[in-house]
Amino acid sequence: MSRAKTEYRYEKLTWPEINEAVELGKVCVIPCGSVEQHGPHLPLDVDIVCPQGIAYGAGRQVPDKMLVLPPYWYGYCGHVMDFPGTINGHFENFIRSVLDVTKSLAYHGFKKIILLNGHGSNMPNLDLVARRTNLETDAECVCCGWWNLLTVDKNFLPSWRESKFPGGCAHACELETSLYLYLDGDNVRKDKIKNGTISFNEEESPFMWVDLFGAGAATVISWTSSYTATGVLGEAELATAEKGRRVYEEAVKQLSRFVTWFADRPKDQRKLRHTKAPTMPMPWGQESIEAAPRPAARSNGKKANGKKAVKKSR
Ligand SMILES: [Zn+2]
Repeated sequence: MSRAKTEYRYEKLTWPEINEAVELGKVCVIPCGSVEQHGPHLPLDVDIVCPQGIAYGAGRQVPDKMLVLPPYWYGYCGHVMDFPGTINGHFENFIRSVLDVTKSLAYHGFKKIILLNGHGSNMPNLDLVARRTNLETDAECVCCGWWNLLTVDKNFLPSWRESKFPGGCAHACELETSLYLYLDGDNVRKDKIKNGTISFNEEESPFMWVDLFGAGAATVISWTSSYTATGVLGEAELATAEKGRRVYEEAVKQLSRFVTWFADRPKDQRKLRHTKAPTMPMPWGQESIEAAPRPAARSNGKKANGKKAVKKSR
């Protein structure tokens, strides 16, 4: 049997196997993170280890449905540069280079892509990458923060979370520390685990507060060093490897479910609603509704038909 069906690590396939993986309609999952401070007790790679661990877990459950790409390491961290070790990807470079990956996948024939994000401040940037992928290629792309997988089942969070809301789970917190303890406990400096507060949360403003699972309606997001002394935002002392195991298993379960559903969902179709058809290509690098001519359409001498091409795409 070809490895295309059983291998979930993208980079372990050969090019003929990639052709088969495209035929299988596999969903591509790109773990996206950052190299960033996570307090005195967690290493700099938390935002990589967490989404990659979850993506690999799902890959092992549904290897015939998905491929996990090598992680994208360097995220948007400009606001964290007052802490040593943090690497910032300029937001334009970051958006462009993740877009390069999604466009490469779309070009080769993968039409379903998930950006599995591990770093909160990547969200607005990766949301734009996903939107642009949807408008500038014929693939469908979605951005999902891994922690949001824990909200699919409404009963899950209350079943383990002990830290206060808001603020107990934000960064290097009860959640991230638990998952890292489970995935790579030897690399946690267990003697240095200490709670940390978010100073503006302490003001108890109805407008300005943060948590991984919600935020105030009007929250100023500025320099990290202006609202935390240690870089720990949340109640890390409540973290356990057992909570990490439960979080891991729930996230893997929900990601596997989503991949399975997304893989088979037909793409929603566009329809040109102009009475008079536009006479120029769509600007901004966005796809016109008439898709580009395909090699097959050229070789039989037929003019590429927009409708046909659109129908063909998954
Ligand atoms: Zn983090």
